[in-house]
Amino acid sequence: MIMPGSRSGEAPCQKLDRLSESLGIELHAQRDDLLPFPLGGNKVRKIFRHLRDSPSQNQVWITNGGINSNHCRTLAFIGAAQGARVELILHSQSGEEEQGSAIQLLRGLGAGVTVVPPSGISEALEATENRVRSRGEVPLTIPGGCHSPSGARAYLEVGIEVFSRLRPDVVFLASGTGATQGGLVAAADRMSRPVRVMGVSVARAKEPGTAAVEEAASWAGANSPRIEFDDAFRAGGYGLIDEVTQHAVQIGLTHGLPLDPTYTGKAFAALLEYAERGDLEGQRVLFWHTGGLWNLIDHLAS
Ligand SMILES: *Cc1c(COP(=O)(O)O)cnc(C)c1O
Repeated sequence: MIMPGSRSGEAPCQKLDRLSESLGIELHAQRDDLLPFPLGGNKVRKIFRHLRDSPSQNQVWITNGGINSNHCRTLAFIGAAQGARVELILHSQSGEEEQGSAIQLLRGLGAGVTVVPPSGISEALEATENRVRSRGEVPLTIPGGCHSPSGARAYLEVGIEVFSRLRPDVVFLASGTGATQGGLVAAADRMSRPVRVMGVSVARAKEPGTAAVEEAASWAGANSPRIEFDDAFRAGGYGLIDEVTQHAVQIGLTHGLPLDPTYTGKAFAALLEYAERGDLEGQRVLFWHTGGLWNLIDHLAS
């Protein structure tokens, strides 16, 4: 089975020269948006690892997410490539997006798509599992966002590789469910010299967000994790944007770095502000780019 995302080298780690110069810091980017897999970003590493850890025959992969979910899109691509059936439960308040390009792509990839209001997710998941079982197939239900111990361990492994080689002082990344950050925090926990892992919240407030990262770090085997979770760049919540987000996306674009307003733009906004405040002076900074190209295009098209 092809398994992109199991090694760091499949996505480049680049020094960003122009941005380093204009921000007065040494800035590198781990380009998980450039993994050899379309539009998946961090979900590529998480999902391949999750599937590798749950082998079985005759499986139907079931998961849930928003209509624009990178997790659902990535699972649909992997299912199509491997000939596995995928059933997606997508939540939408209005159902309006049902004609949109995101859902057309999922259908084109051959995934089964059920759109429900957010309150109907667990019922729809259960009904789908039962339908799969009644056909004599085995349901594999993957948590939304691939927020799972396997997902966190994928980032533990790649984190150890990248941190050992680059030896960054501080890492910035977009933090959603917390599995990616949890894995990287656990990787930092294993380094002999300190690495700060700054999770920038794309949705959650500090307390629940920190708790989720803490849990994911323990899944990845961290003993004494140091969790840093900044919720000041959420712009009001998931998928919402403000001028600070927009400015960060624009700075990225003018330097040839595609950032999106839902995830990476928020993380980069934090990096810009920390740099401006002088908090990153003399530090080797790593921006862990988690993907989000679809979210950028969707934003530009709307
Ligand atoms: C899903 C996603 C994240 C959040 O990852 P978590 O592991 O859920 O915290 C960040 N960036 C992008 C582009 C994503 O698609």
